[in-house]
Amino acid sequence: NEPDPALKDVERRMKLVKHKILVLSGKGGVGKSTVSSQLAFQLANLGYEVGLLDIDICGPSIPRMLGLLDHEVHNSADGWSPVYVEDNLGVMSIGFLLGNQDDAVVWRGPRKNGLIKQFLTDVNWGDLDYLIIDTPPGTSDEHISCVQYLQPGEGDGAIVVTTPQEVSLQDVRKELSFCQKTKTNILGVVENMSGFICPGCKCESQIFPPVTGGAAKMCQDYKIDLLGQVPLEPKVLICSEKGKSIVKEHPDSVAAKVYQHIAEKV
Ligand code: ADP
Repeated sequence: NEPDPALKDVERRMKLVKHKILVLSGKGGVGKSTVSSQLAFQLANLGYEVGLLDIDICGPSIPRMLGLLDHEVHNSADGWSPVYVEDNLGVMSIGFLLGNQDDAVVWRGPRKNGLIKQFLTDVNWGDLDYLIIDTPPGTSDEHISCVQYLQPGEGDGAIVVTTPQEVSLQDVRKELSFCQKTKTNILGVVENMSGFICPGCKCESQIFPPVTGGAAKMCQDYKIDLLGQVPLEPKVLICSEKGKSIVKEHPDSVAAKVYQHIAEKV
């Protein structure tokens, strides 16, 4: 088989990116896009040049979480320009290309692959310290094409997001196996919705008790890093809805502290 000529184009763009980070989750709704966007915000707060690429083609939520609904991308001679939230935080999502946000994207694998290829070759990110890639849940066509084109190497890796429930953890094991099979470095696991801190009394309750030991036990078993445990906190949801950084808006919140810690570890 001839190698895909797009590989060279992807390589040319990605040579300018120091760290490519895939954000994965086994299930939807566990907070993967929240982790991608809050991590991107925090890395940008630290002064890094950051790109956030949303390849969740069927459910792009990044434009909303970055406060960029209704923005459009512009095409120039050197490709698509990302939409900038800050000078050092650019965003690209299929959401920017859809006329109506409520339209369903009903595409089969090859068309999705085509778009991912285009995202990886045609977006003019410039020099980046971090490119955070928000992927759809599971391990499907999008993940396979992404890894094939990106060829993650040293300095790159995957963050797997889960909740403490066994139903989510069991799917994380599949994500870990995907990383092993595709030789993608596992940066670690983020346990999201890990306990609830009551805004009134500040007491912590386990809404989803980690019956089987949660992500901590799984990380121990697999000898991988637990990057952080983000509680279920209404402030996180409000920041996501408004497209704001939790660390900037509520620096004293537990979630902000955890995001600061995660950003230092990647
Ligand atoms: P996924 O990308 O895995 O489908 P999302 O990031 O879209 O999940 O999160 C699902 C919903 O849960 C969103 O409304 C988000 O704001 C909310 N959410 C995520 N993490 C938290 C958290 N730690 N505390 C409160 N709400 C959260």
